[in-house]
Amino acid sequence: MSERLIIAGERRDAADGATSETVDPATGEGFADVARAGPADVDAALTAAARAFEERGAWDPNPAVRSRVLHRVAELVADRAEELARLECRDAGHPVVDARWEAGQVARTFEYYAGFADKHLGQQVPTQDPGLDVVLREPVGVCALIVPWNFPMLIASWKLAPALACGNPVVLKPASLTPLTALALGDLLVEAGIPPAYVSVLPGPGATIGDLLVGDRRVDKVGFTGETATGARILRTSAGNITRVSLELGGKSACVVFGDADIERCVDEMPSAVFANAGQDCCARSRILVERVVYDDFVARFAERTEAVVLGAPGDAGTEVGPLISAAQRQRALDYASVGQQEGARLVAGGGVPDGPGFFMRPAVVADVDNSMRIAREEIFGPVASVIPFGDEDDAVRIANDSDFALAGSLWTGSATRAIRLARRLRTGTLSVNTNRSVRTETPFGGFKRSGLGRELGPAAMDLYSEARNVFFAED
Ligand code: NAP
Repeated sequence: MSERLIIAGERRDAADGATSETVDPATGEGFADVARAGPADVDAALTAAARAFEERGAWDPNPAVRSRVLHRVAELVADRAEELARLECRDAGHPVVDARWEAGQVARTFEYYAGFADKHLGQQVPTQDPGLDVVLREPVGVCALIVPWNFPMLIASWKLAPALACGNPVVLKPASLTPLTALALGDLLVEAGIPPAYVSVLPGPGATIGDLLVGDRRVDKVGFTGETATGARILRTSAGNITRVSLELGGKSACVVFGDADIERCVDEMPSAVFANAGQDCCARSRILVERVVYDDFVARFAERTEAVVLGAPGDAGTEVGPLISAAQRQRALDYASVGQQEGARLVAGGGVPDGPGFFMRPAVVADVDNSMRIAREEIFGPVASVIPFGDEDDAVRIANDSDFALAGSLWTGSATRAIRLARRLRTGTLSVNTNRSVRTETPFGGFKRSGLGRELGPAAMDLYSEARNVFFAED
């Protein structure tokens, strides 16, 4: 299998002919040669995008047309959902059941923003000066969209759909480890009718072409998802140009469980909250805070449930957890599980590597963790859960909020008044009560502290990809 770049809607080899091999995490073997973009390709993509935006502005000034075309993208994604899911399954190691759900969510994301294209309203503002004042929403300009390897097509859609709904040209840079579904989506955008000059997809190393994109004056907006350290670097690189930047970064989310919760259901849902996508999820509930009155029982039941998790080939319909993305990522997770034990915590389930090829690791539960331990403070991005006991509400809030990150979180309780009290005090970008799902297409998603800057999804994303412009008409 070999794949070429997309520059201005056209499949091309990299200007210097470079390619990289993408690896199947379930086997550890290469299976596709993908063109690797270099500086000349960045220049070609940005030249086309900037010229198109300069000449016509939004790719279609009629928002009804943008809406129709984005609906068509949603239909094409839905028609090819199985193909996209299988590609993600192979390239990113996602269990096929999860990958199918992700493809469905990609279609839903385009459908949602298709509906927004012609409902993104400006304002008429009463002013003290006599006249008519209107606030227009206009496309922000050339958007460099840089995405990670953990949910490649889903996170790409969170940026592509609102950016295109606002009319902007997009240059998408997928992670080097997972370029395939981004390229497939790029083809669908052009097939659906977005003008070719408005669509480029450039797989290539973040340290070189990502950096070039972020620092280029032709880029008006950077939409980034990835590590906190990379996000900080992007802020520095883009600062000189005052480029608009939104960042979705790391997490160390807490799940706070009180003794009055439905413990049975909570334990049942816990493995997927922390081990889905082999724990490579910015919202993974990697800190599980449990009230002391139910702590021992919870730990025993969670350990038992974790041992029963089906680890297996991503293509098998019964697989719950697949491989990690790379040998390095697996080693990192294994190292954290060991560090936790060296710091005094107790491994109560899983851990270790099963026999056979691929980057698999048994999901691990580490109990009796103190929130000061590295395993509780640093983002692991692997299948390692830390369980931390707490005494009362104040204790739970103190521990949950004592983190550099503040992306997602959940609260399990049977008391409505406690839920209201604590929802106000737990400081995270999103909080879910009696469930662990954090992401909904229709609601804002993003973090406080070092978890990011700005909010994706929901109506908020339309503001990330547009600018307010004020026009005043004097009365006489
Ligand atoms: P990463 O190393 O920061 O990479 C993310 C993307 O940035 C990749 O496309 C990467 O390219 C590129 N990149 C690397 N260096 C760059 C630079 N100097 N300038 C511009 N781009 C650069 O993150 P990752 O390891 O792929 O993803 C895992 C991280 O993403 C975790 O921290 C996770 O929490 C976070 N995440 C956050 C959210 C959220 O919504 N908050 C969602 C998912 C993931 P290469 O692949 O070529 O290096």
